[in-house]
Amino acid sequence: MVKLAISNNVTDAGFDGVVVVTNGPESLSPKFELLKSALIDYKKIDDSDEVAVIVCDKLPSKRLEQFKNEESTKTTVNYYRLSFKSVDVLWYYIALSSGCQSPLLVCSTHDLYPLAVRVACLGALHALYTPLEIREDLPSKKTKVNQLGLFGIDDAELKILQAIETGRIVYRDIGGSDPERMAAPRVADYVVDIFTGTCIKVEVISELAILEKKYPLLVAVNRAARNVKRHNARVIRLEYEGEGPIKQTLMLVGKGVTYDTGGADIKAGGVMAGMHRDKCGAAFVAGLFQTLSILKPKGLKVIGAMSMVRNSVGSECYVADELIVSRAGVRIRIGNTDAEGRMAMSDVVCEMKELAVGEVNPCLFTIATLTGHVIRAYGANYTAVVSNHPAVSSKVSQTLFEAGEKSGDPFEISTLRREDFALHKGKSEYEDLIQSNNKPSTLTDRGHQTPAAFIIMASGLDKHGRDSSAPLPYAHLDIAGSSGPFPGVPTGSPIVAFTHAYVLDRK
Ligand SMILES: [Zn+2]
Repeated sequence: MVKLAISNNVTDAGFDGVVVVTNGPESLSPKFELLKSALIDYKKIDDSDEVAVIVCDKLPSKRLEQFKNEESTKTTVNYYRLSFKSVDVLWYYIALSSGCQSPLLVCSTHDLYPLAVRVACLGALHALYTPLEIREDLPSKKTKVNQLGLFGIDDAELKILQAIETGRIVYRDIGGSDPERMAAPRVADYVVDIFTGTCIKVEVISELAILEKKYPLLVAVNRAARNVKRHNARVIRLEYEGEGPIKQTLMLVGKGVTYDTGGADIKAGGVMAGMHRDKCGAAFVAGLFQTLSILKPKGLKVIGAMSMVRNSVGSECYVADELIVSRAGVRIRIGNTDAEGRMAMSDVVCEMKELAVGEVNPCLFTIATLTGHVIRAYGANYTAVVSNHPAVSSKVSQTLFEAGEKSGDPFEISTLRREDFALHKGKSEYEDLIQSNNKPSTLTDRGHQTPAAFIIMASGLDKHGRDSSAPLPYAHLDIAGSSGPFPGVPTGSPIVAFTHAYVLDRK
């Protein structure tokens, strides 16, 4: 990642520009008097919300760059409701396009938003990411700036920023790289490489016979890719166990579809482009373990699984109407081969469910770029969380929502209803479940909620409801919108929110 430097002096000659993030120069504290007077003078000639590069003779670099968030001048309450993503966009336009090589970032604090400075720093770091393929192929473009200065940050805060940002780099590397650079076997190599010698345990399951036995639904998706060695499926297991008595166990399953052609129900009409991003759920899992490996939270155990598979098309591909029996013994009728994400994850969730019996205070999660429907419902910037009843009781959605609000990595809460289960119930004596209807999720009522109901029933989690003898909290996170734009760089969502909800502040 970019070299970081702490400075407590805005006239530090080691920097060639100062970037100020503020909701108006008046809000800057007296310690920024030099910047404040320059910005207030500038405001007399330009009071717009536009970003600005200002010449400031009192700074060694003579360059002062200001940006205000678009909501800031409208109402104080909305200040810093902006996520790190919008800081990123503004940062890009001012710091990078103006040619700064050593910018110093100065953020004003805000009583209502205690994490305002952290959010702004994460925005700047996001903008300074260089994609893996560029780092590998074009070394001269490896970094965007020589260093980033952070004003008024202490060492503990620096460690948090580094832990989150390196986690997001892992996520962006896996999620954003093309379907060959991050085909399943190469994702496994990358993950083994980064965690060798750390406190994270890694196990890669690559043998087809074992995958067939353990994950029959995932293997159905893998059928069209199994004769192409470099595209073969992998399940990558990760484990972290913090010091001290374990108080909570998080069990994460990420969708890692390295490329989604749609399969036999092929994505026609130009909607296939961008489908190398269908591995961002698995990228999240690897990224979070990177963050864990630095922060080493006490009393927390995390078990992760990355379901890496390519949804190819060809003579071997699975097709609609096939009956496949899941690991949990549920007979499933395929409805649409483009609903492969739930196939990749359900048996892995089933395995987690079996493991959960022996764990302390377990909570299961699936994280997936699952549906277009979530974007229709909430727009492109929000992670949807759908909890089962035990997770509702333990306020999982609420915890993530609140962490997301304060850390600029926002969530929307969705709920499971009886219709979601009804849609997937078998329609004849041949099958217990229907995997999917044959319309796109965007044209299906409750299109991003129903997949959670399917995963619950296909994995046997429906035997662990609120009224069972062994309730198991489970939350499904749909990141199809929040994982980032294509073309563009993956955001790393929801690593920031998840870290604030479950990793930081553990004693
Ligand atoms: Zn699909």
